[in-house]
Amino acid sequence: MNRRVRVEIHGIVQGVGFRPYIYRLAHQFQLTGSIHNSESGVFIEVQGPGEDVDAFLKALPIEAPPLARLDEIDLAEIGLREESEFQILGSTRSDSANTLISPDIATCEDCARELLDPADRRYRYPFINCTNCGPRFTITRSVPYDRKQTSMAAFPMCARCQAEYDDPLNRRFHAQPNACWDCGPQVGLVDKNGAQQSGDPIAEAVRLLREGRILAIKGLGGFHLAVDASQQVAVHELRRRKNRGEKPFAIMVEGIATALSLCHVSDEEAALLQSPQRPIVLLTKRSAQFDVLAPDGNQLGIFLPYTPIHHLLFAHGGSPALVMTSGNLSEEPIAIDNSEAIARLGNIADSFLVHNRDILLRCDDSVVKHLSGAAQFARRSRGYAPAPIRLRESLPPILAVGGELKNAICISRGRYAFLGQHIGDLENLSAFDFFQESISHFQKILEVRPEIIAFDLHPAYLATQWAKKQQEPKLVGVQHHHAHIASCMAENHLTDRVIGIALDGTGYGTDGQVWGGEILVADFRSFHRAGHFDYVGMPAGEQAVRAPWLMAVSYLWSTFGEEWRDHAPAALLANVTPVRIRIAEKLLQTGRLAQTSSCGRLFDAVAALTLGRTRVTYEAQAAVALEACCSFNIDHGAYPFALSETNPECVRIDTRPLFAAIAEDLRLGVAAPIISSRFHAGLVNILAEATSRVAQRTGLQRVCLSGGSFQNAILAQGLESQLTGHGLQVYKHTQVPPGDGGLSLGQLLIAANSG
Ligand code: ZN
Ligand code: ZN
Ligand code: FE
Repeated sequence: MNRRVRVEIHGIVQGVGFRPYIYRLAHQFQLTGSIHNSESGVFIEVQGPGEDVDAFLKALPIEAPPLARLDEIDLAEIGLREESEFQILGSTRSDSANTLISPDIATCEDCARELLDPADRRYRYPFINCTNCGPRFTITRSVPYDRKQTSMAAFPMCARCQAEYDDPLNRRFHAQPNACWDCGPQVGLVDKNGAQQSGDPIAEAVRLLREGRILAIKGLGGFHLAVDASQQVAVHELRRRKNRGEKPFAIMVEGIATALSLCHVSDEEAALLQSPQRPIVLLTKRSAQFDVLAPDGNQLGIFLPYTPIHHLLFAHGGSPALVMTSGNLSEEPIAIDNSEAIARLGNIADSFLVHNRDILLRCDDSVVKHLSGAAQFARRSRGYAPAPIRLRESLPPILAVGGELKNAICISRGRYAFLGQHIGDLENLSAFDFFQESISHFQKILEVRPEIIAFDLHPAYLATQWAKKQQEPKLVGVQHHHAHIASCMAENHLTDRVIGIALDGTGYGTDGQVWGGEILVADFRSFHRAGHFDYVGMPAGEQAVRAPWLMAVSYLWSTFGEEWRDHAPAALLANVTPVRIRIAEKLLQTGRLAQTSSCGRLFDAVAALTLGRTRVTYEAQAAVALEACCSFNIDHGAYPFALSETNPECVRIDTRPLFAAIAEDLRLGVAAPIISSRFHAGLVNILAEATSRVAQRTGLQRVCLSGGSFQNAILAQGLESQLTGHGLQVYKHTQVPPGDGGLSLGQLLIAANSG
């Protein structure tokens, strides 16, 4: 007996090859009906014999295109109709606002195969793509997502491409960037003066890389700087020219086999590496072979080719591993324009592999690691942005501007929160320009005018200053760690009060001090501070971030007072000029300095004492080194901390017993890996203990973990298992970074719930 079913789907179902997929599926089961995009999603009607309709519905979510995300599927039986075929109906105008632009997606298997097939008409064509893959976000100027609104508008399709584009059964049906050798963009190789080089640009690029040259390569969301990863001299030269101290370089490898030869790769990690998003995945190194790439940690960032150009660089007999780092000068945004790249990167790159398809929006590579059964973002950008986070409830339009470091903005529309691409540290003018660009672009593509702007309370943050200058909408200032916890609540769909453990480097406290080791009791409306690390002084303020020895002196001072030198390791005193130490001492004596409860600064101090790290060249470097050296082989015990509850509403974690024990171990010559192990274990114990007390006092059972310190796997996993052992429910970040890259999501929710 015939049935007709109406299927309404919400989620990412537009611009991802969904309509041709449904068309093919309906054909496969010989069903009639239609599909069209609408305001709130996609509507399908199918009609045919009952069992065929069932089979269609069963297959629908399972075989859906890789880029589609089906958040909700509603079914309704409706009356039969007279019809003879399945039709794709044109979308109505009002859809544009709801047509989500897909993130940029790695070259799919079908396209990768055609790329290397001499019989294919796109053999070795560097811009091959289809509805399942290719550029999206970074080539789109405006909505609706249509070729006219992309940088492909400059390339009218040839007759063959147009025929593919118009055929619902073709893999390139409505693939907006569809192109070929005859009609599409082309690559070129130029020198640092912009002069065109002769020969096949890709073959030449491969040859130059093999010679140890530095190449700037135009990618999806910006330029990369590339060198052959196996040539140490070339890697060192890139570091020197890019002015990049010890910060790790990620490498792109030919395939999963090369990744396996360099690092340990679990099945989950392999799946992340090969996912359509193709993030950089942080993996554990097999040996010290690649120490020049990532000198501090035991992890190496690896990713697989994600554009046809990348595939061709490897297919041309190139090196199986290339350093591919963002094409920028130290902390500036990534370069996207050919002439901009030559101007800005001319002193770094020897040659430029460019092309004439414009990148309209910058988007850096995403960085992910696999931690306790889930992905954890260090950076959420290309491949993910602008895919939204689904919220529990619908929100009014709000713009949240994020923090200072690893900035990313967030905008709400209905039940979705759109977290923007990684902008970076708002420390220079070009990053600030990029920040403003990102805000106006998202407002445009989402067709949203914010009613509220949410910002961090830190008065010196550029994002905060920008927000305060906006006059029209309502402004809501949000405490940094409250935002971290709200971010974790939001992605886990929690609304009731929780205990939040927020551990990071820096966040402006409501008392004007530098917070960063906080236990909060919070919901979206309010929070109170239920616990924190005891304050210590920050000699020289923010300079202490770059010079961990200052924090070591401060903690020793707080533990031993004037006698601190008697307990300081000789290496620390020897590595810093006496006059600097005297200045720090003077500052501590006066007591007139910023006070901090930061977990990041605690890590810095312990790393400075244990590893003799007096200076760092990038954020969290000391903490990364301390984690990397930790010995796991046997249980080395745990250092003590103390809890003080003079104020029953707020437990304070006293770090003095910790530093007394570390000083004693250093005096006895205990090895750094053991000290690191005892420190991590002690830290986990005391945080679990303090949290349990808050749980007992408040009766709350749910604990949210947030803040950049949770990128430390020993801390994150250890704390999660202890808290779970205490009968508490632990929630963490899996969709947005735990660090400041996820901050704006929390700001958004708090602003939505402000009175
Ligand atoms: Zn494809
Ligand atoms: Zn063509
Ligand atoms: Fe933070």
